[in-house]
Amino acid sequence: MTKAQPELQLVVSEIAEEMRRRPDRGEVATYIPELARADPQSFGLVVIDADGHVAADGDSETPFSIQSISKVFTLTLALGKVGDRLWRRVGREPSGTAFNSIVQREREQGIPRNPFINAGAIAVTDVILSGHQPREALGEILRFLQFVGQDTSITIDEAVAASEQRTGFRNRALANYMKSFGVLENPVDFTLGVYFHHCAIAMSCRQLATAGRFLAHLGRNPDTGLSVVQPERARRINALMLTCGHYDGSGEFAYRVGLPGKSGVGGGILAIAPGKASIAVWSPGLDPSGNSHLGRIALELLAKRLGWSIFGA
Ligand code: GLU
Repeated sequence: MTKAQPELQLVVSEIAEEMRRRPDRGEVATYIPELARADPQSFGLVVIDADGHVAADGDSETPFSIQSISKVFTLTLALGKVGDRLWRRVGREPSGTAFNSIVQREREQGIPRNPFINAGAIAVTDVILSGHQPREALGEILRFLQFVGQDTSITIDEAVAASEQRTGFRNRALANYMKSFGVLENPVDFTLGVYFHHCAIAMSCRQLATAGRFLAHLGRNPDTGLSVVQPERARRINALMLTCGHYDGSGEFAYRVGLPGKSGVGGGILAIAPGKASIAVWSPGLDPSGNSHLGRIALELLAKRLGWSIFGA
């Protein structure tokens, strides 16, 4: 059973207040210059339970750069397009390396470890792009997020996309390297253009928590009744989020929070309490693994206070 809404709201507000008072806020990402403009004091938290009750506090309506959280949705789209054939192009194992690591590529002949490290997400984007123009592929990704986020105002932050286009030398290296092994079908610049732009989609915690609801409820949005994916696919996406959603901080996140989750360097985390709730948190300061510092702590407190860890109390 999920908590009644007033109780849930109380827990959310308590945690948000604790987070606002903490002096340790992590470091805002600067390698994409536009992201460095984020205010480390920002904090937002939204929980949407199975009945559709929304508990929110802080900057819950402020759009932020979802960055790698977009990879959950591109994975969903790519699986919808090519099914299990996707796993010929990308693996399903935790990487144990940084989100933008290059060393593993050589050892593994260009096949990325999982769909959430940058190399894997670029390969997934390439799958979505095949047979389309970049603009069409990007439109499909954006429309999917507007659909699951139930908000047609969700859009791309062009300044963030341009900033990453200008400075994404490492992603360019990863993509070119994969191209040399034949892992990418499309021109590297096309694939990267779509990748940079879907990472630059801006969403609020409320929109993101809404978008994650199908993952919390066996592939279906319980309010609209609309099925997004089959239950088995939702379960598998959750499994990948649990094992790979936080790069080389994934083990620590599972240990402390015990929920499937996906982070982005914009400071957001989407976490799923299966059967119970979809949760979005945003705090732009990152820990050394590139995951939101206070976002992780807030989720740890939330999972503990509500008894929501998938591993039990
Ligand atoms: N667009 C970012 C990059 O490719 C995403 C990384 C992240 O959010 O973890 O570097």
